[in-house]
Amino acid sequence: MTAASTTESGALAPLVDPFGRTVNYLRVSVTDRCDLRCVYCMAEDMTFLPKAEVLTLEELDRVCTAFVRLGTRKLRLTGGEPLVRKGIGELIGSLGRHVKSGALDELTLTTNGTMLTKYAGLLSESGVRRINVSMDTLDPHKFQAITRWGSLPKVLAGLDAAREAGLQVKINAVALKGVNDDEFHRMVEWCGEKGFDLTFIEVMPMGEIGDSARLDQYLPLSLVRAELRKRWTLDEIDYRTGGPARYVRVRETGHRIGFITPLTHNFCESCNRVRLTCTGTLYMCLGQEDAADLRAPMRMSDDDELLVQAVREAITRKPKGHDFIIDRRNSGPAVPRHMSVTGG
Ligand code: SAM
Ligand code: SF4
Repeated sequence: MTAASTTESGALAPLVDPFGRTVNYLRVSVTDRCDLRCVYCMAEDMTFLPKAEVLTLEELDRVCTAFVRLGTRKLRLTGGEPLVRKGIGELIGSLGRHVKSGALDELTLTTNGTMLTKYAGLLSESGVRRINVSMDTLDPHKFQAITRWGSLPKVLAGLDAAREAGLQVKINAVALKGVNDDEFHRMVEWCGEKGFDLTFIEVMPMGEIGDSARLDQYLPLSLVRAELRKRWTLDEIDYRTGGPARYVRVRETGHRIGFITPLTHNFCESCNRVRLTCTGTLYMCLGQEDAADLRAPMRMSDDDELLVQAVREAITRKPKGHDFIIDRRNSGPAVPRHMSVTGG
């Protein structure tokens, strides 16, 4: 893969939305495909996008580079599962140039960890310093049930590879009532032993997921926090990663725990991010349907003028906040697209 060299240079005026928020964090879903089928994320028989609709690696590189010129300081690759995208190693290697040049503060990814034994070394060499690995349980049988067929030992081997490669790891665990709520203390302890931070995520009402009723899975993180307090001393800290998580430090382990509570806590006022799907659709808010197509302007010409114009126009439409609600009257998806389309 060759980098889009014609569009490489020259910082442009930063992206500021109508509410004065500087948009400097881009999350890019590089594929909607995945090697797992987590019950809260996908139906078992997902229909994936035709490959022709998905941005090529060159286009992904080009659009990311345009965002870097527009002031993006943090780039997160996600999916679907980013590491199942063919050629992902080359894309990450190529995007690493923006970290090396100092244009990006951070290049990172969110992964299910199944391919980390293969990719941990490459990630580290490409300038990736931290990764988020999603793992909701330490029980292999439960892991298989949640992911429908995943292998926990494979992910654990991947986590070891990540540590050996010098990557900092944060574990993401979706809090699921009646599924992993008996394991939270053990997970805090385990992450403490391994040197990992841990973030709990509330289930979000996104996409039709088939048989599992979302209302039954929903567990407010206020309850998780209250449970953790029974055993651990949670010190409030200021730490922010540019994302919506609020963090505490566990005095006993020295490690952080984050809480992502999109439903019970409104974090929109400090939102600095936008999300790009693998087909080149830019969502200005995770919880709203409004979006802008960047693929057409990108494909219309070799220089980035139309693309940059489309991005700027989209940012003028970034909404003030989102409308997620799960309650008894409204237990269907607030947003019909799956998390694997926009990336978590
Ligand atoms: N496949 C990668 C992974 O699992 O980390 C990256 C994509 S995944 C969509 C990103 C994150 O979204 C994961 O941490 C996953 O647990 C979370 N997620 C997926 N569906 C969700 C939902 N309905 N509510 C809350 N979190 C969800
Ligand atoms: Fe795949 Fe990640 Fe969704 Fe699980 S959460 S099905 S690993 S995209």
